[in-house]
Amino acid sequence: MNHCCDSMERDLAQVCGQHADRFDCPDALITFNSETKRYGLIIHDGGSSAMTIAFCPWCGANLQSRGRTE
Ligand SMILES: [Zn+2]
Ligand SMILES: [Zn+2]
Repeated sequence: MNHCCDSMERDLAQVCGQHADRFDCPDALITFNSETKRYGLIIHDGGSSAMTIAFCPWCGANLQSRGRTE
């Protein structure tokens, strides 16, 4: 699936050598759930929580309407 912009693609594709789980990595900003088609902002509180976001923090694309149409 294509994401809204290069910055989003880069963040979701980035693999960190120090943190196997993206939720453990402070550099990982966004998580994407391919089942719900929802994007979330990773909350680095030591757990695996994320806050659903409606708009891309980089390009401002409406992420929720994208999810519904695809
Ligand atoms: Zn974007
Ligand atoms: Zn890391």
